[in-house]
Amino acid sequence: MLTPEARDALRDQLGDDVRFDVAMSRYTSLRIGGNADAAATPRSAQQVEGLLRTCHQHRVPHTVLGNGFNTLVLDGGIEGVVILTHRMRRLEERPGGCIHAEAGVSHASLMGLCQREGLAGLEYGAGIPGTIGGWVVMNAGIGTREAKDVVKRVEVVSPTGRKRKHIEGEALRFRYRALRGLAPGSVIVSALLSVEPSEPEQVKREIKRMLAQRSGSQPLDVPSCGSVFMNPPGDYAGRLIEEAGLKGHRHGGAEISTVHANFIANRGGARACDVLALIREAQRVVKERSGIALHTEVRILGREAA
Ligand SMILES: Cc1cc2nc3c(=O)[nH]c(=O)nc-3n(C[C@H](O)[C@H](O)[C@H](O)COP(=O)(O)OP(=O)(O)OC[C@H]3O[C@@H](n4cnc5c(N)ncnc54)[C@H](O)[C@@H]3O)c2cc1C
Repeated sequence: MLTPEARDALRDQLGDDVRFDVAMSRYTSLRIGGNADAAATPRSAQQVEGLLRTCHQHRVPHTVLGNGFNTLVLDGGIEGVVILTHRMRRLEERPGGCIHAEAGVSHASLMGLCQREGLAGLEYGAGIPGTIGGWVVMNAGIGTREAKDVVKRVEVVSPTGRKRKHIEGEALRFRYRALRGLAPGSVIVSALLSVEPSEPEQVKREIKRMLAQRSGSQPLDVPSCGSVFMNPPGDYAGRLIEEAGLKGHRHGGAEISTVHANFIANRGGARACDVLALIREAQRVVKERSGIALHTEVRILGREAA
C-alpha cells in the first residue's frame, strides 16, 4: 500500500503517466497477474531518474517491466511501483554502424528500421517479442546468437535514481538468458547495438526466413510467456517435458503446450497459481524420470495470493 504522501509525490511528478491499483494481466503476454499498487510510464531517462528518486525517498519498492513476454506476475500482485518502459521508444541509426534504442523500443520496431535502412546483424531476433530492455536483461537469443553479441553499450540508472552511467558491452556479464552484475533495481534506459551495412532486400529476406522458422514450432496463437525453462546443458527442456508425458497436461486454465512442451499456454482464465503448479509438476516429474533439474527462464514477479 502506498502512503498518501507517496501517491501525491508520484502524481506531482508524472501526472497522468502514473495510475494506481493497476491489473498486471494487461501488461504480460500470459494475460495473468494481480494488481500493482501503481504503474508508471516514464517517457525519458530523466523521468526514470526522477521516479526512482521519489520511490527511494518514500521507501516505495519498484519493479521494471518491458512488454512482459518472459514474465509471470503472481496473483497477489506487485507491491509498489511498476515501471512500464514501453513509452521510451526513441530509435535511431547512429554513425559508425550503430543503432541507439531506448529501453521500451519493441523488437518489431527494431526489425522495421533494419529492413528500411538495410542494417544487418540483428535478424536473428526477428520473432523474439519484447523490448530492448527485456532483450538485454534476458540476453535473449536463439541457438548461439544472443543479445551479448550485438550490445555495444547500455545506459543504466542506479536503483536510487542518483546516477546514470554507460557500461560498455565487454564489461557486461552476460550469461545464458541472464545479465549479471547490475545492482538489483537498476533500470536500463537505452542500448547501443552493432549493425553492418547491407541491402534492405537482403535484410528483409533474412527476417522473413527467421519468422518462417518459428511458425509451426511455437504456439503463437495463445497467450504464453515463451520458454518457461532454460535448456539444461546438452539437452532441451521441451524434449524432457515431452518425454515425461506432460504435453497437454492442464492445471486450471493453464496448459503445457501441445505444440512446444517448454511453453505454458493460458487457455482461458488461468491464474498464476495454475502456471506455478505446472512449473512445479514439470520440475518434479522430469527430475524423477531423468535426474535433471529444470530451472526457470521465465521471471517470476510479485507475491502469491493470500
Ligand atoms: C512466443 C514467444 C517466443 C519467444 N521466443 C524467444 C526466443 O526465441 N528467444 C528468447 O531468448 N526469448 C524468447 N521469448 C521470451 C521473450 O521474448 C524475451 O525474453 C524478451 O527479451 C522479453 O522482453 P520483454 O520486454 O517482454 O521483457 P519482460 O518480460 O518485460 O522482462 C523480462 C525481465 O527483464 C526485466 N526488465 C525488462 N526491462 C528492463 C529494463 N529496462 N531495465 C531493467 N530490467 C528490465 C524485467 O524486470 C524482467 O525481470 C519468447 C517469448 C514468447 C512469448
